Amino acid sequence: MTETKKAGTMAERYKPQEIESKWQQRWDADGIYHTDLHAERKRFFLTMLPYTSGDLHVGHWYAMAPSDSAARFYRMQGYEVFFPIGFDAFGLPAENAAIKQGIHPHKWTYDNIDRMRGQLKTMGAMFDWNSEARTCDPEYYRWNQWFFLKFFEKGLAYRAMAPTNWCPSCQTVLANEQVLPNGTCERCGTPVTHRDLQQWFLKTTAYAEALLDFSHMEWPDQVTTMQRNWIGRSDGVEVRFGLDVRGVEETEIRVFTTRPDTIFGVTSMVLAPEHPLVSLITTPDRKAEVDAYIEQARRQTEIERLNTEREKTGVFTGAYCRNLLANQDVPIWIADYALVWYGTGAVMGVPAHDQRDLEFAKKHGLPVPVVIAPPDWDGEELEQAYVEPGTMVNSGQFDGLSSEEGKGAIAEYLEKNGLGKRTITYRLRDYLISRQRYWGTPIPMVHCPKNGVVPVSEEQLPVLLPEDAEFKPTGESPLARHERFVNTTCPKCGGPAKRETDTMDTFMDSNWYFIRYLSPQYDKGPVDPEVARRWLPVDQYTGGAEHAVMHLLYARFFWKAIRDMGLVHGDEPFLRLFNQGQILGPDGQRMSKSRGNVVAPDEQVARYGADVFRCYLMFIGPWDQGGPFGLEGISGVERWLNRVWNLVQTEPQSGTADEGTTRDLKRLTHKTIRRATEDIEQFRFNTLIAALMEMSNALMHVRDAGPVDREAWNEAIESLLLILAPLAPHMAEELWERTGRPYSVHMQSWPQWDAELAKEGEITLVVQVNGKVRDRIQVPADIDEPRAKELALASPLVAKHAAGAVQRVIYVPRKLVNIVVR
Ligand SMILES: [Zn+2]
Ligand SMILES: [Zn+2]
Repeated sequence: MTETKKAGTMAERYKPQEIESKWQQRWDADGIYHTDLHAERKRFFLTMLPYTSGDLHVGHWYAMAPSDSAARFYRMQGYEVFFPIGFDAFGLPAENAAIKQGIHPHKWTYDNIDRMRGQLKTMGAMFDWNSEARTCDPEYYRWNQWFFLKFFEKGLAYRAMAPTNWCPSCQTVLANEQVLPNGTCERCGTPVTHRDLQQWFLKTTAYAEALLDFSHMEWPDQVTTMQRNWIGRSDGVEVRFGLDVRGVEETEIRVFTTRPDTIFGVTSMVLAPEHPLVSLITTPDRKAEVDAYIEQARRQTEIERLNTEREKTGVFTGAYCRNLLANQDVPIWIADYALVWYGTGAVMGVPAHDQRDLEFAKKHGLPVPVVIAPPDWDGEELEQAYVEPGTMVNSGQFDGLSSEEGKGAIAEYLEKNGLGKRTITYRLRDYLISRQRYWGTPIPMVHCPKNGVVPVSEEQLPVLLPEDAEFKPTGESPLARHERFVNTTCPKCGGPAKRETDTMDTFMDSNWYFIRYLSPQYDKGPVDPEVARRWLPVDQYTGGAEHAVMHLLYARFFWKAIRDMGLVHGDEPFLRLFNQGQILGPDGQRMSKSRGNVVAPDEQVARYGADVFRCYLMFIGPWDQGGPFGLEGISGVERWLNRVWNLVQTEPQSGTADEGTTRDLKRLTHKTIRRATEDIEQFRFNTLIAALMEMSNALMHVRDAGPVDREAWNEAIESLLLILAPLAPHMAEELWERTGRPYSVHMQSWPQWDAELAKEGEITLVVQVNGKVRDRIQVPADIDEPRAKELALASPLVAKHAAGAVQRVIYVPRKLVNIVVR
């Protein structure tokens, strides 16, 4: 066919820069994305709120554009969809950047918010800007303080002296979750050390068991597995070892073990160097060595201390405790792999059945008695620790039991004789929320010389963060040097008192921001309860898996705690979660300014338009995979949208179309609708766009091949535009208008497919027996191999010739089945 067969005039060129800002303004003016919070049929879509670090990068687009498309799809499905946005604006990064550039964090943050809001608007997303919340607004953090008071009231917030992770560079403590696996500060990369400080905690451990219940949500296994491991439940026994040291009041050391069956094999008791007993029991001749060891252990990071590759150092205290089950004295050592903030701060050493204990025993010349015999054990010493099940030996009355039976038998014996009890422990610690920094929510507490720690009364909230504080870090909160802030009166006795000067960790803000979105101006509580009842929890959350054991865990804890206070309803805050992959720099590395590999979306949007950029990000691969970002394929997507632009605006030939062509055209339309619907429900944007590309190519062939049925053609074009609307919202709107359809495409219903029309046609399969044609059968065109063979063998004509002697069946797709018989 030649080009001249195209009817109609060529449309003017696609100029995204012109149409995109025009539609953005129009949608904004008409408020078409403003959610009716009183609607009945509703869905709450949420994308993780951006941190106000300065510029929007490609990662934000990658996270938000597909999520916007999904939200739009559900809107077209007839749901009232709430798709809010806000800014995570408190915390260290703002403060560090502000210090570096000499700008006040307040100004720096609000300038960033303005810039980022402008950048977000170029995406053309259906964010409901009426719901915007900024966590550094007093109207927001007032409710952080209010929640804190509620937690305090319920005993879920408390202050305690604790060894903490300390970042020497940020000059603040960090939560365990903010220490990277390599032992460095999540914010600045400096190795983390430890300090003992009075700190505020939220009692996450009270919800450890509840947080292990993942049955009320649909989340990726990857994330629930990470949370399960982080919470780290172990079932075991807390065993008492006798302690009889002159002048020491304590008469026992408690130790937790998941292997009570190995107690007869204990040859050392290892205490954490920070354990309070150490200074009391160390004998005078060992003191110098023990003190030196404690000093070096303090300088180690937790990760260094837990590194299994390291040499197992330790020193003997000179003291002994007693294994009350085996009636043996056990030397007490200290070693830095024992951590005072895990379990009881004591570890029993069973070298024959634990590899770390074995290395420790070998290095320090401790005996290695075998108490669980491997199946083929000949009484020899073990080269490697034997950790598998076996038979108990050298274990007194328990000899001969299997190790599994032994666990129960020994636990029972210990409990009966008051030597221990069955216990469940968790790896999870309470959530440390104190920060010795300026840019955060002031903790609403007052220290009174008479009454101790007294909560600020609710009516006095918010405790405002003073704007004129000196915010450079010194290790103490900058608020401590702000006289007007610090000096106050006690809410209880009215006497002079001092305010708490620590601020809250920024994760406190993100724990409940989605709740605030529902009524950001509401001032009688954190949320309008009536709206909350209707809209919470969130139906669909999207965000990165890197938040698995921080934000996503804290937010679940927070929700469950306030649910139990009757403030919200439901088991989980986020019913469904989708983790998009991480978009990397073109060099395959994480994008960062210091690496110089950041791809700025603004540039690409200016050049290609938001629609091309959105579609390109969705087309480069499955959304959950992410990967290096390059621009190689973007011109392909640009060409495709240009083809759609021209296709929709040209008229096909009129005349009488042949029936087969019309049927094929309808099939194409309905098949594509079906594919698109299934893909978008599963967040398969890449295959969805591939389906649309196939459809538009096929439509060009139809248009060029001869007369086309008008009705079928219109249905095809309309469906194409409707499916395109969530993906390329501006272009779809422009073409919808140019083809004379009523504003707005974004108020239309998603197209429905007709299963009959979408069905593939039938084809004729030739059936041969030993190469001779015996039958021809009608089968669906999309038949697969097993079904084709089955139908061929079922043919009565074939049965006559193949009678029970079939050797082989050969299938030539969509053509023939040849049955080979003996
Ligand atoms: Zn740091
Ligand atoms: Zn007082």
